[in-house]
Amino acid sequence: MQLASLSSDDLTALHSQLTRDYADLKARALQLNLTRGKPSPEQLDLSSDLLTVLDADDYRAADGTDCRNYGGLAGLPELRAIFSELLGIDAAQLLAGGNSSLTMMYNTIDFALRHGVDGEHQPWSAGPVKFLCPTPGYDRHFSMCQSLGIELVPVALGDDGPDMDEVRRLVADDPSIKGMWAVPAYSNPTGSVYPEPVARELVSMPTAAPDFRIFWDNAYGLHHLTDSPAPVVDILGLAEAAGNPSRVFIFASTSKITFAGAGVAFWASSPANVDWFTGHLAMQSIGPDKINQLRHAKFFRNSDGVRAHMRAHRELIEPKFRIVVDMLADRLGGYDFAAWTTPRGGYFVSLDVQPGTADTVVKLAGDAGIAMTPAGAAFPYGVDPKNSNIRIAPTYPSTEDVRAAIDGLCTCALLAATAALLNSAD
Ligand code: PMP
Repeated sequence: MQLASLSSDDLTALHSQLTRDYADLKARALQLNLTRGKPSPEQLDLSSDLLTVLDADDYRAADGTDCRNYGGLAGLPELRAIFSELLGIDAAQLLAGGNSSLTMMYNTIDFALRHGVDGEHQPWSAGPVKFLCPTPGYDRHFSMCQSLGIELVPVALGDDGPDMDEVRRLVADDPSIKGMWAVPAYSNPTGSVYPEPVARELVSMPTAAPDFRIFWDNAYGLHHLTDSPAPVVDILGLAEAAGNPSRVFIFASTSKITFAGAGVAFWASSPANVDWFTGHLAMQSIGPDKINQLRHAKFFRNSDGVRAHMRAHRELIEPKFRIVVDMLADRLGGYDFAAWTTPRGGYFVSLDVQPGTADTVVKLAGDAGIAMTPAGAAFPYGVDPKNSNIRIAPTYPSTEDVRAAIDGLCTCALLAATAALLNSAD
């Protein structure tokens, strides 16, 4: 049944019923929060041994380095070796840093703005700078650019990556497009996965800016929710084969693997870019927290340790994702006005409600004690042109809370949709 094809009487009756349901929902005085993609306390518990894996005599790296002391800007070799295997990157090109990959993204852009990305071209700040933003995307990527004075240029992101016709056209035309965001596996929030041919095109397409760079944020590359994981694309190998070895900066972290606030972030690129990045990094740090890196290396032991750990995460969060998609299908599927993703990994479900109502739905949910990410957050400048997209982050609350929150959200989505259709019929 299509909501839009209901008779006016049926629509009015449904709207009245939903108005009563919404009043009941409000009366329950819920206090639920689905705003941010945070690991749940149970997920954090999986890594509790990190807090005790080292003892007072245990501070030496495999090569004898005293991790308590200064130095080792590139990060601990044994931890880089583990993640080099998992991410398919030569360990010499993979740096282990502090607790946040976002900080490394910020640093990279900052260095490019101030110094340029190589010895040849001017600092990016010498002219206008724009970034292509596959959309819907990660709000912090967008706000970071905004705060650094970079203009955001949206391009549509589908299940199989960005609209490549549009990307190719834009980068070929405009030399001020210096960068592009990409979350290649299980993107935030749509769960899109970039297939290898898309990756190949991104690293080989002609660009008007000779110093164009792709910010390949592989935040969710290891976060599978099915038995057919998205393969890791060897983007650096593809870039080298395409004759653009330095086009890509890769980022990753253990924020959603161990402790979101006390994990380890990774940065990777061509050997020339590694020299460029560490050269500038050395001006702000003598080295990262090697004790935390040692802790992580001892805790995981090897890449199989990480894989087993990720399976334990999946066991905890997969049921929550199933509740979300089952509840959406159950409550909204019959009316044919909403669409949502069924992610194969990552941290989010992306819901499209009746166009023009996402902000109302989020407000109704908030007034009923269900905090959602603000409507439009996944769009450059916070503006969703269709006002229809809502990001659902189900990992943090308990399964019961997820169920209650999505049930309530569906009531709000239906209430707003019926109200909008009644209004448009007036
Ligand atoms: N990139 C993406 C796509 C994310 O979704 C997140 C966390 N929500 C981050 C980066 C944050 O990474 P970190 O904790 O390593 O700074």
